[in-house]
Amino acid sequence: MHGLAPYAADPTRSPGRLHPESAPEGRNEFQRDRDRIVHCGAFRRLEYKTQVFVNHEGDLFRTRLTHSIEVAQIARTVARRLRLHEDLTEAISLAHDLGHTPFGHAGQDALNACMKPYGGFEHNLQSLRVVDELEERYGAYDGLNLCFETREGVLKHCSLANARRLGDVGRRFIDGTRPSLEAQLANVADEVAYVNHDVDDGIRSGLLTVAQLADVELFARHHREAVAAYPDAGERRQVAETVRRMINELVLDLTRASAERIAQAAPRCADDARAAEPLIAFSDEVRERAGALKRFLFDNLYRHYRVVRMTSKAARIVAELFDAFESDPRLLPTEHRRKADERDRHRVIADYIAGMTDRYAIKEHRRLFAVDES
Ligand code: MG
Repeated sequence: MHGLAPYAADPTRSPGRLHPESAPEGRNEFQRDRDRIVHCGAFRRLEYKTQVFVNHEGDLFRTRLTHSIEVAQIARTVARRLRLHEDLTEAISLAHDLGHTPFGHAGQDALNACMKPYGGFEHNLQSLRVVDELEERYGAYDGLNLCFETREGVLKHCSLANARRLGDVGRRFIDGTRPSLEAQLANVADEVAYVNHDVDDGIRSGLLTVAQLADVELFARHHREAVAAYPDAGERRQVAETVRRMINELVLDLTRASAERIAQAAPRCADDARAAEPLIAFSDEVRERAGALKRFLFDNLYRHYRVVRMTSKAARIVAELFDAFESDPRLLPTEHRRKADERDRHRVIADYIAGMTDRYAIKEHRRLFAVDES
C-alpha cells in the first residue's frame, strides 16, 4: 500500500498469525484477513441479526450486516485521509460484530445472565472466539487464523479475568495501552454509524419524530439547513439529507481532530501510537454533540415501549432456549451435542445460541416449546 504513515499498522511487521502460513500472493496480510472474514459463515449470518429492530419487523431497517458495511465505509474514508492501513481497519470493522447474539443487546444480556455461573458471556470476546475457534473452514486449524492486529481490534473490550487468560491479545487491558490506530478508528466509526442510522431507522419506524429531535442540536441544525435548501422535498428526503450532513460533520471532525492529536503526539511507529493516549477521537465539542444524540436515542428509542416489548420477548426466548438445552443436552442438534459431551457444556450451548440469527432463534424456540411443531 502506498503512502502509509509511519504510525500505520504494517503487515510486514505483524506479530503474525497463531498458525504460521506462507505470505499471500497478490494481496497483503490484512487484505487476506478481510477476505477470510467476508467468506465466513458468521459474516453471512449478520444479515439476519438485529441491530435495534428485530429482523422480521421490516426489510428497510439496518441489520448487523448493513451496519458493519456502514462502519467499514466510514472507517475506510478516515483511514485514507490519515494514511492508516485501510485494509486493516476494514477487516476489523467487518468483523467487529461477528460474536453478537440474536436480538442485539437484549439477547446478549440474557445470555450473559444465563452464563453468569459459567464464566459469563461478552460479545466482543465472542467475536474473537468466532474468528479464533468457532469458524470451521480450514483443514489445518479451527477459526480463521487472522493476524494479531485484526484480532486485537476485534477484541474491543474484555474483563480483566478474560484478558489474563487470552495471552498476547489481552495484554493491553492489563498494561493499560491502546490498540492500533486502525482499531481505534473502527471503534469510533461504529459509533458514527449507529447513532446516525438509528435516527434514520427510528424516524422511518415512527418510533421517533422530527419534532422530538428538535432539542438535539446536531440533528436540529442540519435539519434546518436541509429544510431551507429543499423546502418541498418532503420529510423522508429532508431526514435523509439531515443524516447525510450529520455523518459528514462527524467524519470531518474525527479526521481533523485525530490528525491534530497525531501531530501533537508525533508517534514514530505503530507501537508509539499504542502507548499514547487515544489518538483517534472527536474534538471535545463534537464529542459532546454526539453524546447528546446518543443520550436522546437511549431515552427515546432504545427505551421506547415498542422496542422494550420486543427485547423482553427476545430475552425470554434466549433464556428459555438456554434452560432447555442445559437441562437436557439431548435436545441439541447432533454436532453441538457431540461437542457438549466432549467440552464445557455451558459454553457449547452459549456458542450455539450466540450463532443463531433472530429468525432461527424464534424457529428453534417454537420447535422446542410448541407441541404442534417439530
Ligand atoms: Mg457495531
